[in-house]
Amino acid sequence: MKNSNKKVAIMGAGVSGLACAIELEKHGIFPDIFETNKHVGSRGFNHTLGWINLMYRPVKDPMLHLEKEYGIHLRAMEEIRRVNFYTANTSATLTGKLGYIHMAGPDERGIVPQLKSYVKSPIHYNAIVNFRELAKEYDHLVVATGTPEISKLLGLWKTDIAGYVRGGTVKGNFDPYTVGMWMNTDYCQSGYGYFVPWNDRKGSLILNMLEITNHAAGRLFDNFLKDINWDVEFEDYHETPHSIGHVKRHQIDNIYLVGLAGGFLDPLFAFGSIECLESGVAAARSIALGEDFTKLVHLWLRRNQQLLMMRRYVDKFKNEDFDRAFEIVKTPGFRSLVTKTDINIIYILSKLTNTFVGHKVDKVLW
Ligand SMILES: Cc1cc2nc3c(=O)[nH]c(=O)nc-3n(C[C@H](O)[C@H](O)[C@H](O)COP(=O)(O)OP(=O)(O)OC[C@H]3O[C@@H](n4cnc5c(N)ncnc54)[C@H](O)[C@@H]3O)c2cc1C
Repeated sequence: MKNSNKKVAIMGAGVSGLACAIELEKHGIFPDIFETNKHVGSRGFNHTLGWINLMYRPVKDPMLHLEKEYGIHLRAMEEIRRVNFYTANTSATLTGKLGYIHMAGPDERGIVPQLKSYVKSPIHYNAIVNFRELAKEYDHLVVATGTPEISKLLGLWKTDIAGYVRGGTVKGNFDPYTVGMWMNTDYCQSGYGYFVPWNDRKGSLILNMLEITNHAAGRLFDNFLKDINWDVEFEDYHETPHSIGHVKRHQIDNIYLVGLAGGFLDPLFAFGSIECLESGVAAARSIALGEDFTKLVHLWLRRNQQLLMMRRYVDKFKNEDFDRAFEIVKTPGFRSLVTKTDINIIYILSKLTNTFVGHKVDKVLW
């Protein structure tokens, strides 16, 4: 079939769905995009997110990578030049060209509205569609809903982390280039708290918790705020489940699972913008060029397996373990690895965790 005759539907006009549409259009396919919301912008609330360069190794700079590989130029809110880590009894700082701050949500400065500006295909807003009907009606269906529900209905999903996120936008005085990260089992078990500035007056202060109900989340969030004792005023609050998992197969008949629905989120920190975006592009290439989708994304799958193994170790960490782990961050060797090389630190850290952590975990079965 000629590409221009292929009928493709995309469910979800978020990071992965729009990236898929952009790539399909390059190959002469103009998909129908169905979005439940009345606008683009993922979960509907604005918050900042961090793209930490070392998480994407061997890619050195994710922004340059997206531009060079896919012709997608995204404007960041700011660069990340410093990350302050806090554990129960110690703190560590990394400085250098460490990554980028982006906006998530409907705000025009956000990644998703920026991706939308590249798309010419129709986006059907307020759409309530049935994925089984779409799969019958179209030659291909790309599921990019940012949730695991359809993957679960297809019997392909396995949850690795049942995460819950609570946070909000805070006003105060901040360094616009500095991100903060807290790891302390007293309030986030093996999850973490983080702060990513919007500018020098505003930022997103968020707690990422695991295996928790929303009632307990409120209590832990209060404990987090009490512990860090920051002089800030909340402008708004938001909370959402944020489960991470993986799928047994990414393609079943004519249905592709991309973005979070396809498990393209890292199981250690639940970051995922870049791999979600690339999974959308990979689905488009598979549809347009007949390439094997799993092969196109195999590097992400391998990296996520390594990170899931690390997650299983970190799940058993006590505060002393977090303190010890961040002693590594303070060493000049680690700083040089981060700022002066392109070495795949995730791989090295996954091996180090294996060797130096006192407890053992079962091998991760994918
Ligand atoms: C609070 C929070 C903080 C995060 N922080 C970071 C970070 O710091 N760094 C990082 O890299 N990543 C971060 N992430 C992860 C990142 O935002 C997600 O990985 C990414 O947006 C997921 O992309 P996606 O395409 O799968 O889904 P989304 O971008 O969420 O898009 C899904 C779209 O599908 C629509 N939709 C849902 N159901 C349907 C349906 N049935 N029919 C039609 N449309 C539907 C939704 O409305 C939405 O527009 C964070 C996520 C959250 C929630």
